[in-house]
Amino acid sequence: MFYPPFCPNPHCSNHRNVLRKNKYSWFAKDGFYSSCLLGKTQRFKCKQCKIRFSKQTFSLDYYAKKKIRYQNLLKELVSTSNLSDMSRRFGVSHNTISNKIRRLSRQALGVNSHLRQHVSLHEPFVADGFEGVAVNFYYPSNVNIMVGKHSLFFYTFNYTTIKRTGRLTEKQRADRDYYESIWKADTKGIKHSFNRLVEDLAQLDFVEHDIFPMVLFTDMKLEYERALRGNKFFRALSEGELFYHFTISSKEPRTLHNPLFPVNYMDRQFRKDIAEHVTKSICFAKNVNNQMERMHIYQFYHNYIKKNRVREKQYITHAALAGVPNGLRKSYLKLFFTERVFASHLNLDRAEVACWNRGYVTPLRLQEEHLPDYLAPLPALLYEDWCA
Ligand SMILES: [Zn+2]
Repeated sequence: MFYPPFCPNPHCSNHRNVLRKNKYSWFAKDGFYSSCLLGKTQRFKCKQCKIRFSKQTFSLDYYAKKKIRYQNLLKELVSTSNLSDMSRRFGVSHNTISNKIRRLSRQALGVNSHLRQHVSLHEPFVADGFEGVAVNFYYPSNVNIMVGKHSLFFYTFNYTTIKRTGRLTEKQRADRDYYESIWKADTKGIKHSFNRLVEDLAQLDFVEHDIFPMVLFTDMKLEYERALRGNKFFRALSEGELFYHFTISSKEPRTLHNPLFPVNYMDRQFRKDIAEHVTKSICFAKNVNNQMERMHIYQFYHNYIKKNRVREKQYITHAALAGVPNGLRKSYLKLFFTERVFASHLNLDRAEVACWNRGYVTPLRLQEEHLPDYLAPLPALLYEDWCA
């Protein structure tokens, strides 16, 4: 017998904390409904807010018309498969694959949000910008990443579109000017996004309570220096000897002993594992939000599934090195492919909220970003249908 764990209505008192003594009494059974995918399914009703829902409301395949094996989808996503490859292999449309990736990315956000609270390693951080492409080659994407120096735990990242620079032919320069007349990237994008990245990291509980003083390594990019100097919070921390920033030339050999090794390593992994980031790949992202969703799935895979050293016998993940208890990691992995994550239960940073709500701006995109029904917060009147 399935017992609903909480009320799916985020405004109901039974949503966050169902009292132990009320564990089986806060809801009532409320008939059945039938669907082609699941057959006969039990409905429930919350005694507090009166909304109706079912077992399916708590499933990752909530509102889905087709099922695929998410474990296989994850393997494809981290081994340079593109949308067409996956669509052929699973025998479903591109839209179905995109839908499943979207669901999986919310699960990744959820698990990361819960498990990173258990990071207990006191370690310096290493940050850098990873450059890719979104929409077309005149809109390079810059993903600022923050990685643990010893654990290689991928803490957080955010996105900004930057101006195309470098050597260009006359034709290319004319094309760039044409695209920029329609949509132009913020010239201070890297500075602002780096500022947000470090601020978000400092907001996380484990930094607040455990890892002061905070030590950060970056390369010598001027934007990083300017961002930190222009930020009152970090200036005050530096003066109080609670924050140290060290810069290393990016021309130093990219060896294991280079303090920037963690970000160099991540760069290599992205280029090796994700189809759109393979050098000279033709599979570049058409939508920034989709690119970020795939990156969050990769973050989850890197932190909680991938082995730290392939040649070592012992299976140790980056999360384990960062101090996340292994038993806890395993229990979340069990739920990852089945139980739906609710945004209202999570503590997300700004970049994660932007990804969840599809809030990133895609250059040249004229239509407003559409948030699918199974993710959009709906008005109370629609809850009954929404939760069916
Ligand atoms: Zn309720």
